[in-house]
Amino acid sequence: MRFEGKTAIVTGGGNGIGRACVAQLAREGARVALVDLCDPEVAQELVDSLKDAPGEVRAFQADVRDGERAKQLVDQLLEEWEHLDVMVNSAGIVRDGLMGAMTDQQWRDVIEVNLGGTYTYCHAVTQPMMMQRSGSIVNISSTGAEFPSRGQVNYAASKGGVNGLSRCLAKELAPRKIRVNAVAPGMIETAMSAPVRNFVGDRLKEIIPLRRIGQPEEVARVVAFLASEEASYVTGQIVRVDGGLSLGGY
Ligand code: NAP
Repeated sequence: MRFEGKTAIVTGGGNGIGRACVAQLAREGARVALVDLCDPEVAQELVDSLKDAPGEVRAFQADVRDGERAKQLVDQLLEEWEHLDVMVNSAGIVRDGLMGAMTDQQWRDVIEVNLGGTYTYCHAVTQPMMMQRSGSIVNISSTGAEFPSRGQVNYAASKGGVNGLSRCLAKELAPRKIRVNAVAPGMIETAMSAPVRNFVGDRLKEIIPLRRIGQPEEVARVVAFLASEEASYVTGQIVRVDGGLSLGGY
C-alpha cells in the first residue's frame, strides 16, 4: 500500500506495460487516471477488473501528442484530487524501417508520440508538482536507445531523447523535491514486441541471460518502486529491466 492516498496519471495505460503499471498502482492504493488512445472497451475492461482494488482507476481517451488536452486533463484531475503525485509516461509506438526506406511520416510519428508525448505530459505536470513541492515522474524508455536494433533509427532516437529529457528534468526539478527517472525495458511480452518475438523466435531466449522474455508486471514493479517513497534518494537514473540482455558478451 505504498500509494495509499496518492494519485497518478499513466499514459499508454490501456495496454502492455502501461496497463500493468495502472494495475500495480491501483492495487497499492493509488487513484489512477489511465490515458490512452486504445479502444475504450479495452480500457473499461481494466477499470472493471480493478473495481475491488484499494485504489481507483478512471479511463480517459486522449492522444499524448495533444498538449492542450493534457493540460485540460491535468487541471480537471487536480480540481478533484487537489494533488498529483505520480506521472508515468508509457504511451509509445514503433514504425520500423531501414533508413533507406524510412518515410518522413514514420520518423515523425515515432518522435512525436514517444518523445513528444513524454514531453507533453512532463510539461503538463511540472507546474503543479513544482507548486506542491513533491512528485515523481517515471518515463518508459528502452534499451534500444543505447543498444539499437537495425531498422529503428526513429525509435532509438526517440528513446535517446526520453533519456536526455529525464536526466535534464531531474536536475531542474530536484530542488523542488520532484524526482524524475526512466525505466528501460528490454524484450517484454506485449503487442508491441510481438513482430520481433515472432521473427527472431527461440533464438531470442538464447541471447537473454535470464533465458526468457520479460513480463509487463516485472517492469511495472520497478516503475512502482521508482515512483514510491522507497526510492526517495533516486533521481535522474535510467534503470534497465532486461533480464541482462544489455550486458553483451557471451
Ligand atoms: P503496447 O502494448 O502497444 O501499449 C502501448 C499503448 O500506448 C497502447 O495502448 C497504445 O494504444 C498507446 N498509444 C500509442 N500511441 C498513443 C498516443 N498517441 N496517445 C495515447 N496513447 C497511445 O506497448 P508496450 O510494449 O506496453 O510499450 C509501452 C512502452 O514501453 C512504450 O513506450 C515502449 O516503447 C516501451 N518499451 C516496450 C518494450 C517491449 O518489449 N514491449 C521494450 C522497451 C520499451 P493503441 O493500442 O491504441 O495503439
